[in-house]
Amino acid sequence: MSGIATVYRKTRFRSRLEATWAAFFDQIGWSWIYEPYDLPGWIPDFLVKFDRRSILVEVKPAENPADAANFVESAMIKAKRGVLIVGLSPVMHENERHYEIGAFVRKESGRARIVDAYLVSCSDCWKTSLRHEGGGVTGEISDCVCFDPVAPNISTDGGLEDRWAHAKNATQWFPS
Ligand SMILES: [Zn+2]
Repeated sequence: MSGIATVYRKTRFRSRLEATWAAFFDQIGWSWIYEPYDLPGWIPDFLVKFDRRSILVEVKPAENPADAANFVESAMIKAKRGVLIVGLSPVMHENERHYEIGAFVRKESGRARIVDAYLVSCSDCWKTSLRHEGGGVTGEISDCVCFDPVAPNISTDGGLEDRWAHAKNATQWFPS
């Protein structure tokens, strides 16, 4: 499944899974560049640009994306920006009302720390933000300016499961 080169929006992706993530980023309003540049020993899959900062995204077709975190830990230091690691799909945690997107590698006191990454949607403008949470510290990367960062009036309910389904449909492989 994941090894089939897939064309989406005139970009040729190495795998359908990468293309599906690109389509999902479109669905949630994140602007992306595929394989933006080379770093020593690592070509990041995506650069995702928010208004005020940008992050790198690495797609790992694993059940637990955090397993791949060590791989990019040193790369994050070189990249000088946060790295989001995503897996086979986002995961809705019904009980906790969390929509988990993967693991986030962020810099704390000069070292890389791997924390949980969630998607949250503003209930006013419906922009979708990345929330990273771990070790008692919560951060948010967002284009939403409706409220103070990490304000409580946000929703996990932005139709995100439907958007993932749309992304999968948009990147189906059709035999020619
Ligand atoms: Zn907003």
